[in-house]
Amino acid sequence: NSKSATVIGLGMMGVTLARLLLQGGYKVTVWNRTPEKAAELVKDGAILAPDAATAIGASPVVVICVYDYAAANEILRNTVTEAALKDRVIIQLTTGHPQEARDAEQWANTIGARYIDGGIQAAPSQMGRPDTPILVSGNETAYAQAEPVLRIFGGNISYLGEQVAAASAMDLATLSSIYGTMLGFFHGVRIMESEHVPVDTFGNIVGGIMPTFGDFIRHEANVINAGDYSITESPMRISVEAVERISQHAYSAGINTAFPDYANPLFKKAKAAGLMEQELAALVKVLR
Ligand code: NDP
Repeated sequence: NSKSATVIGLGMMGVTLARLLLQGGYKVTVWNRTPEKAAELVKDGAILAPDAATAIGASPVVVICVYDYAAANEILRNTVTEAALKDRVIIQLTTGHPQEARDAEQWANTIGARYIDGGIQAAPSQMGRPDTPILVSGNETAYAQAEPVLRIFGGNISYLGEQVAAASAMDLATLSSIYGTMLGFFHGVRIMESEHVPVDTFGNIVGGIMPTFGDFIRHEANVINAGDYSITESPMRISVEAVERISQHAYSAGINTAFPDYANPLFKKAKAAGLMEQELAALVKVLR
């Protein structure tokens, strides 16, 4: 089999990526801290490596998708020898800060690995479609080697050039747009509630003027209207972490912090109120 790739990290996203590679005809080697999570994939033909170094040695292209950079660095820098990583193309799909991407690239260069940083802008269930958006940046030659694998994960690839931090910066900036919109929407919900106008109607009106994102707005409006905040599209914890990242970045990059200073405390209140395992729409409870 000429097509072979390794996936490190079998969380919700990593499992999905490994499965898509199998479906794409790849020989897939996987490794996860908790090996049990590989069971279904192994039944479908994946090879479970006994350790991360063996997994990385098995394929020219290595995809890593774990919780955060701290976890990725722990795996790559502490448990894998430099020899195993030499000449490998590493596709980092773990979400992180621009500075983390720069640090990772620098480290990869010193050990002779090729590094590409990516940002996935879709949920696991939305992966592998022609329109699935993936942001990627870093060395152009490495990108060319990574591209066939990335194409399996999503057809809508934006290669943002050799500045390795571009993908994570774009991801953060996109999230900033989304949370700006959503916080305005939740305030709108409070206007509706204060005047006893139905929230689902509001969702339809806003949804109508924002065609694509409107589907999500309409969904969140229906959640609020029904009063059932079980997770259906977007868990609060993802937003709490994302807005925290936006805030950390603004402070470390020295850009204006007015927006994160306003948004982050609201999401911190949601966390303190025990809303982490509810749908994003539960932010309205903080505003009530
Ligand atoms: P999960 O929480 O489902 O999985 C986390 C993964 O990280 C597991 O494989 C876990 O291993 C591993 N991990 C955590 N800490 C360590 C550690 N110290 N050492 C080794 N392995 C560790 O996360 P997801 O799969 O959902 O997300 C993975 C990445 O993808 C994140 O960066 C996320 O931001 C990004 N992403 C996720 C999206 C989503 O909707 N799920 C959307 C877009 C991006 P173990 O199984 O042993 O706990």
